[in-house]
Amino acid sequence: MIPFLDLQRFQARHGPAIVEALSRVAASGRYVLGPELEAFESEFAAFCGVRHAVGVANGLDALHLALRAMGIGAGDEVIVPSHTFIATWLAVSLCGAVPVPVEPVEATCTLDPDRVRAAIGPRTKAIIAVHLYGQPADMAALRTLAHQYGLRLVEDAAQAHGARDHGRRVGGLGDAAAFSFYPGKNLGALGDGGAITTDNGALAARLRALRNYGSTAKYHHDVAGVNSRLDEIQAAVLRVKLRTLDADNGHRRALAARYLARLDASDLILPQVREAAEPVWHLFVVRSARRERLQRRLDERGIGHLVHYPVPCHRQGAYAGGRWPALPIAERLAREVLSLPMSPVLTCDEVEAVCDACSEELQT
Ligand SMILES: *Cc1c(COP(=O)(O)O)cnc(C)c1O
Repeated sequence: MIPFLDLQRFQARHGPAIVEALSRVAASGRYVLGPELEAFESEFAAFCGVRHAVGVANGLDALHLALRAMGIGAGDEVIVPSHTFIATWLAVSLCGAVPVPVEPVEATCTLDPDRVRAAIGPRTKAIIAVHLYGQPADMAALRTLAHQYGLRLVEDAAQAHGARDHGRRVGGLGDAAAFSFYPGKNLGALGDGGAITTDNGALAARLRALRNYGSTAKYHHDVAGVNSRLDEIQAAVLRVKLRTLDADNGHRRALAARYLARLDASDLILPQVREAAEPVWHLFVVRSARRERLQRRLDERGIGHLVHYPVPCHRQGAYAGGRWPALPIAERLAREVLSLPMSPVLTCDEVEAVCDACSEELQT
């Protein structure tokens, strides 16, 4: 049995430090907007190489509040990847703005800057670049476009904590970045959590108000905000896990290298890494026109696998009735992608076993 992601095994490694953090918070009498959050925000900002981090309740809120803090709303268009987790699109819809899907570069599954340029129109206000599967999007090209057309550039970094592009960490490569700390992410809490990172002090101040009922002084509400805060318990847990994030990502990188070497001769389409990109392999995603056969073989061997994602956003019920352009790449990816086991507690032997199962299937 090789689970897709063994969170219990991962958690066990941090056992005593996490228990210590939990009891510290339980005994402190401070549970919301306290010292653990403040400490985590400054440690996470330093990790990303930015001036500010603002903790919120989850990754969707991080994206949605980032857009709201930039003044994006009804009548505006925001460019999003056609192939992404639906939260990227929902954040735009929650603001009252319209998501405009743009197809990715197939080899990397990240936003294609040339297609972005072609999609920019008079109502376009922002671009959300998703660092999908842990690989940074081509941020240098997207920054150039954003400057040229006066657009805001937001990173959806929910799958890419610690990744680098041209040597710089994601989180500081646009105007603001949204992170999720959902348990299965590269940096995961014991429940929901999220954060926005930015170098823009005024934007950070607006976000601090927005997450807390639009309040800058207790019981004074300047804007109609929300309640979206990162609890002290989760902040304390994240501080423990942040310490090993680089090492954990290093392990993922070693496993990915093993997968790439072992599967090179197979007829699977393997993920490619753009030059200057240093991915953190949140997921290891291969493609096959014979996905179902591969899934069956992995099932027989007790090997976990998932599809990220089986239905493109524009085909979801939530977006039925929208007038979407033809999006053949998103549709093909939805049919062909398959995520193999990947985590900081997966062993090299387990990766070998997964590769054996894949190779056998492809020979028959
Ligand atoms: C997980 C994820 C989100 C949303 O994060 P939540 O904390 O689950 O709300 C947004 N975008 C991407 C790409 C994600 O993978």
